[in-house]
Amino acid sequence: MSKFFSSKFDALEPYVPGEQPRDMKYVKLNTNESPFPPSEKALKNAAEAAQRLQLYSDPECTALVEKACEVFGLEKGEIIMNNGSDETLYFAFAAFCDENHPAAFPNISYAFYPVFAEMNRIPYEQIPLNDDFTINVEDYIGINKTIFIANPNAPTGIALSVEDIERIVKSNPNNVVVIDEAYVDFGAETCIPLVKKYDNLLVVQTFSKSRSMAGARLGFGIADKDIIRDLNTIRYSTNPYNINSMTIAAGVGALSDEEYTKKNCQTIIENRKFTVDELTKLGFDILPSKANFVFAKHPQMDGKEIYLELKKRGILVRHFDKELLTQYNRITIGSKEQMQILIDNLKEMVM
Ligand code: PMP
Repeated sequence: MSKFFSSKFDALEPYVPGEQPRDMKYVKLNTNESPFPPSEKALKNAAEAAQRLQLYSDPECTALVEKACEVFGLEKGEIIMNNGSDETLYFAFAAFCDENHPAAFPNISYAFYPVFAEMNRIPYEQIPLNDDFTINVEDYIGINKTIFIANPNAPTGIALSVEDIERIVKSNPNNVVVIDEAYVDFGAETCIPLVKKYDNLLVVQTFSKSRSMAGARLGFGIADKDIIRDLNTIRYSTNPYNINSMTIAAGVGALSDEEYTKKNCQTIIENRKFTVDELTKLGFDILPSKANFVFAKHPQMDGKEIYLELKKRGILVRHFDKELLTQYNRITIGSKEQMQILIDNLKEMVM
């Protein structure tokens, strides 16, 4: 740290992203990316937009917002586009949390939440999951805090029902409830329709997973118009050109190709079932996942050992050196071929 770094960040421990190693070609199952390329329409639009990079991007993302409103059945003003859902989440912490509206989220969830809270110097509560890694809905009823829930949760993959989320939203009318749906397209149910009914619900989604655009950095938030207005106040106070023109254009292309997205999600769901079946045969315990990853442990092998041995063999999975999680690894569901390589290697390791 330099002598100039503000002391307000003394306690800040930055988020540690999953490894993106460049030393060799891995079977990469560690950061929940899609194994499929982006839609052809996204690629074509991005290439065309590159011709006009001398101009600033459209801060209102007009074309993308229009297309998204059509796809999700929204009115303009009910959606904000951001530089990945990480940015939407960051803006939500900045906009809706303070000493009077502390943040609350599960103790096991997306590791960025506590970092965003620290960064904004917001008090926060981490609510323990049940022993089986499910969320106890009662813990969130009427708690009068700004709630952040990933649904499906990460790294567990376990999803709550829309009915349970509605109970949480309804019981906290004076606080925003943020539902982070990064993985919703792989088998869980979206809360987007509830946005028309509740003015305190913010649904956050991303193009990074189901739409194969993690490298383009595009996410969005859907909520009542007043909430979106607040998020835009933060956005226009930091970086109005937060999304580059190629990404905006690619986003329009991806949303014009929902068939492709749906087909890919279906393949991932099938590959997840294949992976769960094969891992079960090898003796793994696997949490019931509705996401494009599974969280698995083996009764005879240490979680970190599995991670290290797989890495040696050119397969990357995500291991968390955190209490309660060390026995597990989070394994992204990739192509059938990738999953077969994983299974073949695990077979050699555990047999
Ligand atoms: N929420 C959750 C639960 C995630 O796991 C991730 C991916 N790391 C994100 C949000 C952020 O995704 P992105 O910024 O790529 O949209």
